[in-house]
Amino acid sequence: MTVPTFVPHVIAGAQQAASNAKTLNNINPWTMSHQGEVARGSVRDIESAVAAARSAFDDGPWPRMSERDRAAVLHRLADLMHRDAALLARADALDMGRPLVSATAVDVPRAADMFRFFADHLTMSTSDRYPMGSAYHAYTDYRPAGVVAAITPWNHPLMLGTWKIAAALAWGNTVVMKPAEDSPTSAFLLAGLALEAGVPPGVFNVVQGLGAEAGSALTASEQVDRITFTGSTATGRLVAHAAAATLTPVCLELGGKGASIVLADADLELAAATTAQAVFNNSGQVCLAGTRVLVHTSVREEFVHRLVAEAHRLRVGDPFDPATDLGPLASQRQSERVRGYFDLITDEGGTVVTGGPLDGWSFAPTVAVGVPPRARVAQEEVFGPVATVTEFDDEDDAVRLANDTRYGLTCVVFTQSLRAAATLPARLRCGTVWVNCYQVRDLRAPIGGRGDSGIGREGGDFSREFFTEPQAVFLATS
Ligand code: ADP
Repeated sequence: MTVPTFVPHVIAGAQQAASNAKTLNNINPWTMSHQGEVARGSVRDIESAVAAARSAFDDGPWPRMSERDRAAVLHRLADLMHRDAALLARADALDMGRPLVSATAVDVPRAADMFRFFADHLTMSTSDRYPMGSAYHAYTDYRPAGVVAAITPWNHPLMLGTWKIAAALAWGNTVVMKPAEDSPTSAFLLAGLALEAGVPPGVFNVVQGLGAEAGSALTASEQVDRITFTGSTATGRLVAHAAAATLTPVCLELGGKGASIVLADADLELAAATTAQAVFNNSGQVCLAGTRVLVHTSVREEFVHRLVAEAHRLRVGDPFDPATDLGPLASQRQSERVRGYFDLITDEGGTVVTGGPLDGWSFAPTVAVGVPPRARVAQEEVFGPVATVTEFDDEDDAVRLANDTRYGLTCVVFTQSLRAAATLPARLRCGTVWVNCYQVRDLRAPIGGRGDSGIGREGGDFSREFFTEPQAVFLATS
């Protein structure tokens, strides 16, 4: 099997071109050349996908199946993802430049695990019963919410998609997913595997197209019961607006500008290696990144030296070369955006120690010092491999700098002090804190942010809350 050169919708189990036959170009970010076409979904296409999901929910077997049977289908889907891992990995590598090695070793297994986890979570979930004497029997049940609209970004296409789809499907919903226009293929492949695994037609639909066309039509639909969105803060505001009009519950996982805080007593070798991962992984195209690097004055020089050495160790190149650590930026638009921010570093008074633009849309891991904390490049999400290093003198100062942002997604703390490790998280205004580690995940834990980083949480029971309607039942026993 090969990656298709035309990526259609999958609606009610059938592959379909756009009803008006319009297409978008799919550009390979490494070669910067045209590699295929994508259906450009129209309002009509979105309506037909939502209608398919609606009828699969209202009349189909999926929400009515036993939890055990639904879980078995999702485990089968995870098995098929492993069978086709090479193809799924290739799709993301071709679409957005993810190094094939990382896509194969990390992304596909993690994406498959999402289905296993939420299948198991479903079958092991319990709900509350409320003792009310012998006259009544009272309990809560979690009913599937209905049709879920899932709009996903291009930076980790398969992983961020499955994070939503797996939970939504496990809890008995039907789904219309719109992947980003720059990374359409893995979602299309996933829809095929879902059908093969036994997910009934119409339960998992994928529509392709532009955000302003297909995406906004999906969020405006009155037939949708939940909207889950991962993407930029600006688009998140539009999605929230659309959700308000129909009073549809919405979960928004938006941008970030996480702080990596290196205290004076940190293990600097660990801090530098982990910070490099937190800033440069996936060429910085990660909302959870810790790009505002805050370092205690006493260790600043040594830390910067080590971070620069880490940056030099990373190989930027062809996503299909096994030696490549970082692929190109995902699109011309993204490349222009990161270059624009790179130019701001010096305009705003900072100094580039290493890094900068390379050929094509590639970008070398960049470390900048002396950028004022309120400068745009230190405040706005670059979504590229750019670290700005700022000094602080004491812990209060570090906390103040870390919280001086409109975002509130993640923070990373490096310290060997048990007291600092235990007390700092409560002072940091963000959804996730990693202490002496980065990107450690457990699917039971909440993911989500505060402020401009979004609304709501997904993961384990948090996903259940969002993707179901908890229903209280009071039963008179006589
Ligand atoms: P970026 O600007 O980095 O591409 P976006 O937040 O715009 O990030 O994109 C994330 C997802 O949101 C993509 O699938 C995109 O197509 C979609 N999108 C963009 N604009 C809208 C919109 N107005 N309504 C709904 N979805 C949208």
